[in-house]
Amino acid sequence: MHSCHAAWLSSGLRALGLVLLWLPSGALATAATYEQLPGADGTFLIEWRGEFSPAEQNTLRAWLTDVGDCVSLLHGRWPRAEIRIALQPVSSDKPYFSSSAVPFARVLRNRPEGVLFYVTPSRPLADYVNDWTAYHELSHLFIPYPGRRDVWISEGLASYYQNILQLRAGILSPTEVRDRFAAAFERGAADSDDADLTLGELSGRMMERRAFMRVYWSGALMFMEADIALRQRDPESGMATTLDEVLRRYGECCLSDGAETTGPRLAADFDRVAGGDLFATLYRRYAATTAMPDYRAILAAAEPLLQADQRDRSVPAESR
Ligand SMILES: [Zn+2]
Repeated sequence: MHSCHAAWLSSGLRALGLVLLWLPSGALATAATYEQLPGADGTFLIEWRGEFSPAEQNTLRAWLTDVGDCVSLLHGRWPRAEIRIALQPVSSDKPYFSSSAVPFARVLRNRPEGVLFYVTPSRPLADYVNDWTAYHELSHLFIPYPGRRDVWISEGLASYYQNILQLRAGILSPTEVRDRFAAAFERGAADSDDADLTLGELSGRMMERRAFMRVYWSGALMFMEADIALRQRDPESGMATTLDEVLRRYGECCLSDGAETTGPRLAADFDRVAGGDLFATLYRRYAATTAMPDYRAILAAAEPLLQADQRDRSVPAESR
C-alpha cells in the first residue's frame, strides 16, 4: 500500500499532537461536538454522521491521518489549523452511488470549513488511500470559494493538485500523472457542446450544462501553465517560483476561515504575493476561452517538472 507516512513525521510529532488533545480548544465554541483527530499540521474535527463499527472508525481515522500528511506535501502547512471532516456512510439503498471507497464528497464552506465525505465503510484502508477524492477536496481549502462564475478556478486548483499530491505521496508515478492529465484534458476537449459560452459564462451554468470536464480541466491547465511559468523565474528575484509558494504566501496573508473571494480578486492577490502579473494575465485569457485550450505543449513542458516533483520523502520538506 502506498502511503503519505513519512519518516520526518516522527513519532515525536505525533506524541505532540496527542498532547494537544488535552489542551482546551478555545477556538471553537462547538468543539465538543467533534472528535478531535490530531494530524500532521493541525486537527481534524470529525463528525460521524451515521453508524460505523469501531473497526471502520479506526480505518477511517488511519485514512484521515494519512491524507493529512499528504496535505502537508503541498507547501508544508495545512490551509487552516482545524479542518472539519463529516463522514457519512453510503447506504446500499442508494444504487446511484458508485461502490468506490469514497463515491462522493463536497467541500463544507460553513465554518469550520472542511469536507463531507460519503464513504463505503466496509472498504479496506488501501482503497481509501488510493482514492483520489480526498486529495482533490482538501486542495480546495487552500483558497476561498470564488463564486459560481469563477468556480473553474476552484475546481482547476483542486484538479491540478489532486494529481500532484498523489505524485508526491508516491501513489502515482510521473508517467501515470502525465497520462492522467492527458486523459483528463482530452475529456475537457471532448466537452465541446457550449462553444458559444466563454469559460466564465459556462462556469456559472456548469451544473445545468453538465459541463464539468471543460470547467475542471481548463482550470487545471491554467494552474499547470502558471506553475511552469513560475518555475522559470529567477530564484534570486524574490518572486514566488512555484505554485506551492504562491499558495503558502497567500495562506499567510489572505486566507481565513469562511472568507470569500472572486476570480479577479484572487488573481490580483496571487500576483501581489507572487510578484508580476502572471495570474491576472492567465485569468483573463482562460476566462475568455470558448473551448478547452490546446494542452499538448503545456503538458510536454510540465513533464520534467513532474519528474523533479517526485521528491525524496525521507528528508524534511523545504518549508518546514
Ligand atoms: Zn472540486
